[in-house]
Amino acid sequence: MGRLFAVEIVYRGIFQKLLAKNISRGIVLAANLEGKPGTSFGRYGDSPERNGIPAKYFAIVATDDVTLEEGMAKYEPKEVDVTVCVDDTLCKGVESWAWYGLQPINKLTMPGGTLIVTSKESPEALIPMIHRKQDPYKLAVLKGIPSFSGLWVYKDDHTDVRILGAIAKLLPGMMSLDSLKKFIQHEWKDQVKVQSAVNAHNRISTVTVAPSQGNPETPFKFELPKWHEMRDGVAIPSIAPGHKMDDPTTHAAGGFQPARNPTFKKWSTRTMRPVVDFDTCIKCTLCWLQCPDSCFDVTPEGLYDANMEACCGCGVCEAVCPVKDCVTMVNEVSFKDNSSQWAAWRKNKDTYKTWLKGTIANRPERSHGFRYVGQYAEQTPEMLEIAKQS
Ligand code: SF4
Ligand code: SF4
Repeated sequence: MGRLFAVEIVYRGIFQKLLAKNISRGIVLAANLEGKPGTSFGRYGDSPERNGIPAKYFAIVATDDVTLEEGMAKYEPKEVDVTVCVDDTLCKGVESWAWYGLQPINKLTMPGGTLIVTSKESPEALIPMIHRKQDPYKLAVLKGIPSFSGLWVYKDDHTDVRILGAIAKLLPGMMSLDSLKKFIQHEWKDQVKVQSAVNAHNRISTVTVAPSQGNPETPFKFELPKWHEMRDGVAIPSIAPGHKMDDPTTHAAGGFQPARNPTFKKWSTRTMRPVVDFDTCIKCTLCWLQCPDSCFDVTPEGLYDANMEACCGCGVCEAVCPVKDCVTMVNEVSFKDNSSQWAAWRKNKDTYKTWLKGTIANRPERSHGFRYVGQYAEQTPEMLEIAKQS
């Protein structure tokens, strides 16, 4: 019986699809240069893959054909040697469009396995976001902002080869650095990309995460109906109309909260979330009208509170709001929960104002796709600088 190696790449739909494919394919082709058979495939990436929805690629490599066949006779690996998370906001969990609840980012990482995260944050900042695991595992942070592209463009900032270089260091039995260098030279004919992989290989390090470390919450889940509980034909129940929204401080009713899909929560689908300044809002309704996911609860005084169970983080509300800094998108790593901003504002307006000012002033860089022509060119010098330093 030979040895089977499994790596999963958790990425954001559309924005990082090519990045995930490059990593997964690179693993298999580099290992193949050493005579190891392997396969690379996507999961939860089938249409309709949506912008930002978490999705996965898998790379399976074996020391011989029979072991590979055995490893492939499963829908997906039950555990992996390495989990790669190419957007640090996914450390909060993974919920794909067809998933059944929130899955911890390290769920498949085997005991003693490694979670690699691309992030500018430290391990100490990332660990509290990651759900606890029963067994110790290793965490490696590949420094850099998450690499996001669009549907038809690819931001070639070397994140793909940098991650491959890190994997070669952490799992050398699967693919050596030499094989990886040969593969990169053959694939891209770019010595700078080879060097980026070597730099990442030489500089990546890990910390061990103990079972007592991390987010202690039980991830959101629900029961899927059994086959014998399903009705004939396809019947999709409509969403009920919604209900009045109480003021948490006076308990006066008056607002309106739309009903939403009770099982599909969008916590993990966003990399940014809107922060609303209720003191400067002019109640123009534009955010409420334009939000593609009906996220806004209408408060009793006619303000608009973005509900974090429904927000996918698209940024439309920020784009349409006519008041400066009234809606500001802030990187998801800045938040510890999904509570209502309006309820916090109602509780203490001064405290909320101070929190809002600090949060939007120190917001980490937006990592969310392309928003305007020329954004790629603006970000590229910084990315190259990060690659040089890593
Ligand atoms: S970012 Fe704004 S517009 Fe987009 S889903 Fe969230 S609340 Fe709605
Ligand atoms: S778009 Fe801005 S000003 Fe208009 S209702 Fe929404 S938050 Fe208020």
